[in-house]
Amino acid sequence: MNRDVIIALDFPSKETALEFVDKFNCKLYVKVGMELYYASGKEIFEELKNRGHKIFFDIKLHDIPNTVHKAMKVISNYNIDMINVHALGGKDMMENAKKAFQGTTTKVIGVTQLTSTSKEELNLQQGIPGEILDNVLKLANLAKDSGLDGVVCSSYEALKINDTINDFLTVVPGIRRECDAVGDQHRIMTPKKARLQGCDFIVVGRPITQDLNPVKTYCEIKKDFLGE
Ligand code: C5P
Repeated sequence: MNRDVIIALDFPSKETALEFVDKFNCKLYVKVGMELYYASGKEIFEELKNRGHKIFFDIKLHDIPNTVHKAMKVISNYNIDMINVHALGGKDMMENAKKAFQGTTTKVIGVTQLTSTSKEELNLQQGIPGEILDNVLKLANLAKDSGLDGVVCSSYEALKINDTINDFLTVVPGIRRECDAVGDQHRIMTPKKARLQGCDFIVVGRPITQDLNPVKTYCEIKKDFLGE
């Protein structure tokens, strides 16, 4: 699979999202997350596909295996390229998610720990002891054992995952250039460093969507990430 920059279309409506993508005169890989999906429904997938864009549906499902399987079965009709569930939902749930996409080319990946999660939150709020890296690695191995195609992780864990788990995608949000605001993210890295960590995909939202010249910024980030 080709490495790429995925733009997080975190917009409040179908119209604002489409107005944004129509500024680009190239085929994009975009991420539809909860905000846009709940605001626009499945129509957004059709609109984006009609324009030739690839879609990562960041729906982050986390429920009992049967419910996740049935929801994924519905979503499997939407012709999307990549989708995710929370790895913390467990092996049975992940297997059921993957099973719903049997016979399709859709990649199913697991969210390990959110890139906005700090070590303090992991240890004190979630009550999970140890380092984020060890916890993420455990969840990545569980996702692999469940038959998933990869994980969402931070760039700090991607290298270790790439080194220890074969044929497994790392999809990495929390990307910031030196000049960007950090916002609510905690484990951040620049596009160039993310390349050196071997990330397959980076997911970039606000540094591109909030920029006055998003097309130029996207091209710069893509160049830094792909090393061209
Ligand atoms: O604006 P920003 O670049 O921080 O956007 C990152 C995107 O990646 C957001 O849409 C967020 O929901 C998503 N994401 C994340 N951390 C994860 C999984 C997804 O930041 N672990």
